Amino acid sequence: MSEFNYQLDLLKAMNQKLSEKERMYHVICDSAEGAFLYFSFRKNQFSTLGHWREFFDFEIRDVADFQRLMEEVDEPYRQELRRVLFLDKTGEESAVTECLIRERRIWLQFAVKVYYDDSGAPSDKVVHVTNITRQRFKDEELQYMAYYDNLTGLYNRNYFVRLLCEYLKNAAETRNIVSVMNIDIDEFNKVNDRLGIEMGDDLVQQFGLFLKDFCQDNVIACHLHSDVFCIAIYDPAGTRTAEEIYRQIRERIRDPFRLSNGSEVKITVSVGVAEYPEASHSALELINYAELVVYRVKALGRNGIQYFNAPILDDFINSVELETRLKQAVTNRDFIMYYQPQYYTGNRRLRGVEALVRWKDQDGELISPGTFIPVAEKNGSIVPIGKWVVEESVKQYARWRTQFGFPFIMSINISALQYKKEDFVDFLMGVLNRYQVHPSEIELEITETVLIDDFDAVSERLRLLRNFGIRVSLDDFGTGFSSLSYLKKLPIDTLKIDKSFIDTVMTDPSTRVITESILNMVKALGFESIAEGVEEERQYKYLQAIGCDVIQGYLFGKPLPPAELEKIFAGSLS
Ligand code: C2E
Ligand code: MG
Ligand code: MG
Repeated sequence: MSEFNYQLDLLKAMNQKLSEKERMYHVICDSAEGAFLYFSFRKNQFSTLGHWREFFDFEIRDVADFQRLMEEVDEPYRQELRRVLFLDKTGEESAVTECLIRERRIWLQFAVKVYYDDSGAPSDKVVHVTNITRQRFKDEELQYMAYYDNLTGLYNRNYFVRLLCEYLKNAAETRNIVSVMNIDIDEFNKVNDRLGIEMGDDLVQQFGLFLKDFCQDNVIACHLHSDVFCIAIYDPAGTRTAEEIYRQIRERIRDPFRLSNGSEVKITVSVGVAEYPEASHSALELINYAELVVYRVKALGRNGIQYFNAPILDDFINSVELETRLKQAVTNRDFIMYYQPQYYTGNRRLRGVEALVRWKDQDGELISPGTFIPVAEKNGSIVPIGKWVVEESVKQYARWRTQFGFPFIMSINISALQYKKEDFVDFLMGVLNRYQVHPSEIELEITETVLIDDFDAVSERLRLLRNFGIRVSLDDFGTGFSSLSYLKKLPIDTLKIDKSFIDTVMTDPSTRVITESILNMVKALGFESIAEGVEEERQYKYLQAIGCDVIQGYLFGKPLPPAELEKIFAGSLS
């Protein structure tokens, strides 16, 4: 009995020790990160420890249970996981693999270690399972940033260029074509200005998402910058062509984009296409050329598609050359002023002159403002040129007034960029002061484009100038957007009817109807009217008959340098 009791106590003590040990293992395993799968080769027995249940809702009790485990894992990772879990067969001691658990999208790492007994036979195996999802996402995020554009989810520029290089390499081997399309949202600035940058981003994002649908085997798309996107098509003669993509874009943008603030925005796009091998063999050049064509599309009124060709590149090179020469001309002050007289229709008396700048280049050739003013407006040199024009014309006027002894009006063309300068009013008043010219003798000609950008700010500035007594006239009326409703809000004195109306007024009855209604409206609003580009006597007679106040045109005088104009004045005044 006592022997039995002794054995029992011993057993109890051993059991307690064992369960304490087991408890210890459990505590250790629980406090470790992840879960453990233990396998005893001797007993052919599996046990799971630690946080196994956080990952799987089943236990591993025998080999058959591995089938369930495999089913949880994403297909591409199964083979490697199987190899790692049944490691002892290979004789390796340890191995690691990662896999994606399908339903829950978590990444698990399986680190396996096999222990061997003294005879070299495998005795135990421990599989340590850890959740590495966070780490993987971080890596993925870094990878994402390297290849994708954050805003749109399309490829970024760098990666796009790399892929395009691949396309070109393949195309060289297979004698294929690669099309590169540059897609630019028209007047995107207006969306940004009107609705804010966030809504601009929203639009770019939505448009980018739409372009993403085109990305397939032979099509890649990227967000180049701001509102500009690029698509490359390998073998455009195949299933996709630039025209086809353009057609689908146009179909989409027929409907407005609904932005997150509830507003709806309708857009148009300008698209330029450059193709390998015709345009270039270089990925970067193809991208640049496609963008160059977009400038052309924009210049032709936006909302269209064009293909790159050699003359476009020539024009561009010429304009770059023109720009360089223009910068030099600004430094050298290679400009001269011409003046064109304006006469009252009723009595043919001089109303004033319009100051028109000319660029006299190094060879003495005169370059027309129609050629260089747009370039100067683009690169900002219109500001120094414009300042020179104002100073020169006011100085000339002061001289003439003393010479002839009576006042008239000096009309000066002013560009949008000049109005936008903070110091414009101060500058102008300073010049008038310096030459002792009264503000009422000066008229500023503005075009509608000045107003489109920032109607309120510009009208405010014009109002200020008019308070000083300066006259304001609206130039080239009828060529811009000419919304009649804004006319009555404009602080102007004079409206100049564009030459294009005068050109056809005698031959086209509908032009006559329009011209007459413009004049009626001008009268009703109390403005003065000037007809530009009058070349024929019959035009003059007609305009006089329908009540146009002032005539300007070759019929009565071309723009001339001051000395020649003085001769005419002297003749007509004597
Ligand atoms: P604009 O202000 O509408 O000037 C009238 C243009 O029509 C002038 O061309 C003038 O020479 C031309 N013109 C006048 N009468 C006739 C005519 O009977 N027949 C024909 N065929 N043309 C006539 P120009 O001098 O070449 O100037 C072109 C444009 O360049 C001007 O159009 C104006 O927008 C701009 N511009 C000229 N000078 C300046 C300037 O100093 N500053 C700015 N910002 N722009 C200027
Ligand atoms: Mg003008
Ligand atoms: Mg004009």
